[in-house]
Amino acid sequence: MKVFKFGGASVKSAAAVRNTATIIHSFSNQALLVVVSAMGKTTNALERVVAAILRQQDYQSELEQLKHYHEEIMRDLFPQNHPIYAAVLREFDRIESFESQLWSEDQLYDQIVSIGEVVSTRIVAAFMQKQHGSGLWLDARDYIVTDDTYREGKIDWQTTKHAIASLDFKVNPLLITQGFIGRNAAGYTTTLGREGSDFTAAIFAFCLGAESVTIWKDVPGVMNADPKRLSAATVFDELPFKEAAEMTYYGASVIHPKTIKPLANAGIPLLVKNFDDPSLPGTRIHECKVDDLPPLIVFKDNQCLISCKVVDYTFIDETQLSVIFKALSDLDIKINLMQNSAISFSFCVDFRENKVLPLIERLQHHFEVYYNTGLTLITIKNYDEKTFDFYRKQKSVILEQSSRSTLQVLVKN
Ligand code: ASP
Ligand code: MG
Repeated sequence: MKVFKFGGASVKSAAAVRNTATIIHSFSNQALLVVVSAMGKTTNALERVVAAILRQQDYQSELEQLKHYHEEIMRDLFPQNHPIYAAVLREFDRIESFESQLWSEDQLYDQIVSIGEVVSTRIVAAFMQKQHGSGLWLDARDYIVTDDTYREGKIDWQTTKHAIASLDFKVNPLLITQGFIGRNAAGYTTTLGREGSDFTAAIFAFCLGAESVTIWKDVPGVMNADPKRLSAATVFDELPFKEAAEMTYYGASVIHPKTIKPLANAGIPLLVKNFDDPSLPGTRIHECKVDDLPPLIVFKDNQCLISCKVVDYTFIDETQLSVIFKALSDLDIKINLMQNSAISFSFCVDFRENKVLPLIERLQHHFEVYYNTGLTLITIKNYDEKTFDFYRKQKSVILEQSSRSTLQVLVKN
């Protein structure tokens, strides 16, 4: 059997849903588990609903817009009397009852944000049924079991594997389920972290021993740079798991960072294909050796450079570094680049205000702290002389670091 994953862009409109359904149907001669994300930018909109509830502001207009968006899509796909309308509305209406629960912010977030995937999969499954007479809607939360870490659920692999093993493709060769969501032992919905649907596909594939996973995207495959930034970007025919994993580490958004590990461990190839033109070969990520990979360029925006300077003419030592690392670890913040000098330690992190500002405050008890926001970290793997010189010599570089294979520069926009 195979696992497919369709992201938000592949179901963002009625036309997109039709196209996705056509692709799924063209594989109807084999067992398939299809993971689908929320439609278009629904997750961002649901995040705004949560933010409004937490600030005790009005969220109705945001919610109405979302309902309207889904309704328009449904109206294009289904006749007026189809039960899908009520099913989708029912999901959105649950928000009202969540609102008054005494939950933590993150718990509330997961209960609400997960609705995006629930409704999109209900629509896709109902459309497959109507159009092609196949496709069973599956609640991923009955299979993906996590711990209690809301917004970043950690997979309970043993329980998850056991639950997934019960799936029977002989009865239903086409299963349609949600990405990004799971359930904890207490029975509440959890989410796996933004853009986590790729990871869901990898979890199902790993537990089912799938033949392959295909991620259907709006790009022709994995490219050596974001084509929106570099028009000369080219598509890889194939990539070793290791190379793909490192790309995601440096911030390439083409695949979620957690996706590669389970697939590489089980030797399951990951294909990245174009949903606008399924006849294109796409990229095959698998165990292989590729000679002469072109330079691979990853841009990571919204970076913050923090510098901790010692105040009393002592030098930065291990005790001081441990204070910094302890704070980072306590606040669960990942360093993207670091560098030290005699009297200061500088590091770059994703700028998430609710995490970074408390970090800075904590570090200020020990150091003189300076920080810059709005930066972009550019990583060039497998650089050649030309790319090396080009990226180092940009005027706006404020920090650079290189090894034999990788150059990183932090630039002001
Ligand atoms: N809908 C979720 C998000 O936008 C999960 C995903 O798309 O992978 O983050
Ligand atoms: Mg998405």
